[in-house]
Amino acid sequence: MKAMVLHGLGQPLKLAEVPLPKVGPNDVLVRVRACGVGLTVVILVATPGRITSYPRIPGHEIAGEVSAVGSEVKNVKIGQRVTNHFYLTCGNCIHCRSGRETLCLAPRGNVGAACDGGYAEYIALPERNVIPIPGGVSDVEAAVASDAIATPYHACHEEARVGPGDSVLIIGAGGGVGVHMVQMARLCGGRVLAADIGADKLALAKHWGADEVIDARRGDLAKQVMALTDGRGANACIDIVGNKQSLETGLQSLALLGRLVIIGAKPKAVYKDDPSFSIDPGYFLHRGLELHASRYVNAAEIAQTLELVRRKRITPVITQTFALEEVEAAHELIRQNKTTGRIALVIN
Ligand SMILES: [Zn+2]
Repeated sequence: MKAMVLHGLGQPLKLAEVPLPKVGPNDVLVRVRACGVGLTVVILVATPGRITSYPRIPGHEIAGEVSAVGSEVKNVKIGQRVTNHFYLTCGNCIHCRSGRETLCLAPRGNVGAACDGGYAEYIALPERNVIPIPGGVSDVEAAVASDAIATPYHACHEEARVGPGDSVLIIGAGGGVGVHMVQMARLCGGRVLAADIGADKLALAKHWGADEVIDARRGDLAKQVMALTDGRGANACIDIVGNKQSLETGLQSLALLGRLVIIGAKPKAVYKDDPSFSIDPGYFLHRGLELHASRYVNAAEIAQTLELVRRKRITPVITQTFALEEVEAAHELIRQNKTTGRIALVIN
């Protein structure tokens, strides 16, 4: 089969002809039709220690149809369309059993890092990692939904607890996760204040439902949030950028009892800048603030997200698609922060 293969940390991916993945007794083999491309995978291929061995095929937001199943697979059938969960988990620990599998006590790493991923014609995944795609949701929509829409579902619903009338500041609102966060926060009843850099990203956030847009390059984000909320601040800030400046600005933008939600982080190993941020405990305490880590989703949340897409309550925003062999061009656009909305591979 064809695959885009990584031979070492930070190296460019190379097109290669490789054997079909081995299918263990509890695995399913999926013919990949689409694979989302986002910041997570770009950071993953450049961060020391994340990829367990080389050569490795990255990619973790897949959709396609099951073409073979292992002898112990019970609930997945050949021909069924599926997407996937990004974490390889034990399924048995207390966190897995309570729907917090991203905090698995015996984690085996991630799809596309500890096992081969979806930048290929086929992928083998544990049965536990695949989620059926409902009719009416296309492969590329499902691939994007499994991460770039599911992550906003968890962040808005469980962490930011966005309710009717809440002001929600989204930092990084025009990117692949951000543009779905805007829609999800609106769906939860929030009033969305969308911050990003550049007219294209702000226009996209506005198009998908942002009530107000703020160009973060102006440098007075917290002040603008206060002005737009009659001096109260935002009830929640969901920070998709995750550097020192954005996190500290997010804290300063919160109303009393406000929730700051960390979605992603810019690791120092990749971005050079230290993302550590400081909190004044007095300020934090007296304002009754909350700090939340929103770490991906559980499998049920992916299923719920796919249902929202099927019912057209939320729209996958896919601004550009690439062929398998063009994946480096897609990664480069993300490295340069030149993408608006989500981009994806379509693998025929
Ligand atoms: Zn576990």
